[in-house]
Amino acid sequence: MGIILKTEKQIETIRRSGQAATATLQRMGEAVKPGVATSELDKIARKMIRDFGGTSSFLGYRPNFHPPFPATICASINDEIVHGIPSPRRKVEEGDILSLDFAMIIDGYHGDTAFTFPVGRISPETRRLLDVTRASVFKGIEEAKAGNRIGDIGHAVQQHAESHGYSVVRDLCGHGIGRSLWEEPQVPNHGRPQRGIRLKPGMVIAIEPMVCAGGERIRVHDDEWTTSTADGRLSAHFEHTVAILSDGPEILTENPDLWGSNGQPG
Ligand code: MG
Repeated sequence: MGIILKTEKQIETIRRSGQAATATLQRMGEAVKPGVATSELDKIARKMIRDFGGTSSFLGYRPNFHPPFPATICASINDEIVHGIPSPRRKVEEGDILSLDFAMIIDGYHGDTAFTFPVGRISPETRRLLDVTRASVFKGIEEAKAGNRIGDIGHAVQQHAESHGYSVVRDLCGHGIGRSLWEEPQVPNHGRPQRGIRLKPGMVIAIEPMVCAGGERIRVHDDEWTTSTADGRLSAHFEHTVAILSDGPEILTENPDLWGSNGQPG
């Protein structure tokens, strides 16, 4: 299929789905507190999707060999990296971290974003994992400019995470996005400078580092979705949908109220 470049008008549509997605993510984040069940957050997302007149990217999503995803959000607690399935039985507790990944479609185009929220008070070590992972998204975005290569993004993310003693997940990666949730190219969170496909204006990609306090190896649960660290250590996940324009990257899911400015703790 190859990489599908987007027109200005198509990017405008993704900006709208991206803004709806981040507003929904923020609303869910405001509801994150000790005792909340991940299914309650899914309920918030379902309502917001309706209010925006959109549809869910995740509900029924079925890549090869997987059962259809049964919810509108992925909710991953502590050592769970991504693709946790919301459930009334999954309640978060003080000191946990909760990664919420959310995408929705407006007028045929997906916007995709993720954020890892602290639940109540968290330890300074856990806070540091969140801050470093969040900042690594922006290290990647800085390299998402025409003329660079896909390896420049991964290299920047990896450098930042590893320089703080963390590892990056290699078995999962970011992706092109548009009419499909997953398009080419793959956007790894590791790489070497000046390697891989060249970035061009009109490309829209989701940059989504998954950073682990321990090792990078993953374990997929029996539900065939939930993915955890193999060593049981914490993992954080942050994601922005980014357009590569002739004058630099534009964050289509930008939301300073949620993220703070420049990825610094807000
Ligand atoms: Mg994504």
